[in-house]
Amino acid sequence: MNADDVGARRLRVAGLTRMSSVDWPDRLVATVFLQGCPWDCFYCHNPALIDPRAPGLLSWDDVISFLERRRGMLDGVVFSGGEPTLHAALEPAVDEARALGFGIGLHTSGAYPRRLERLLPRLDWVGLDIKATDDGYDRVVGRGGGADRAWRALELVLHEHQRRAGTFGYEVRTTVHSDAVDEAGLCTLADRLARAGVGTWALQRFRTTGTRERMPRADGPGRPVNLGIVDSRRFEHLIIR
Ligand code: SF4
Repeated sequence: MNADDVGARRLRVAGLTRMSSVDWPDRLVATVFLQGCPWDCFYCHNPALIDPRAPGLLSWDDVISFLERRRGMLDGVVFSGGEPTLHAALEPAVDEARALGFGIGLHTSGAYPRRLERLLPRLDWVGLDIKATDDGYDRVVGRGGGADRAWRALELVLHEHQRRAGTFGYEVRTTVHSDAVDEAGLCTLADRLARAGVGTWALQRFRTTGTRERMPRADGPGRPVNLGIVDSRRFEHLIIR
């Protein structure tokens, strides 16, 4: 056992989806959910995964032995959460999954750009949340400084995409709840994302599935937001979910 093996075993795994066709577009993957997130988005669909002190429910060894049995049957592994980049142990875990021949995807809010920067050369695809305009970010995530971190993460992702054209993909994602981003906010975001060079932007309509009954800092499900306000011609792929 080397030092990296010990590191990966410290990963706190909250759950495992054994087969998913929706967590990484056009790939069949297993999705590993990690415990803990530094933020507290009012619309979080996995609020049980926010507590960073909660223990994991599954060992990394169990995940690896499952993956060993699925070699050749799945395209990749997606690390999700919670916020997976919270964990120093993510780096050795990514290396172990990659060594088994899997492509590696990551869902992240961009809360830890420095760890993301170290991980990017070992990743094949990233789904990155951009949650709001700068002035609305703190209200959505319930903490300060989120906007700067998320936009720095976006810079890194776009740079990696330029550097490894054809072998590294990404999707920027925004959950649309009227208390997070309204029509005016969508136009502001669209302009900034297009100017930054984002090609793929997924707008995800807010759904109540998995959310808390009384969401903090939000007025229930909010009002419908007109997604048609975004000029789709500014993006290579504008995805509406
Ligand atoms: S960043 Fe993701 S996991 Fe963390 S609170 Fe927000 S929605 Fe939930």
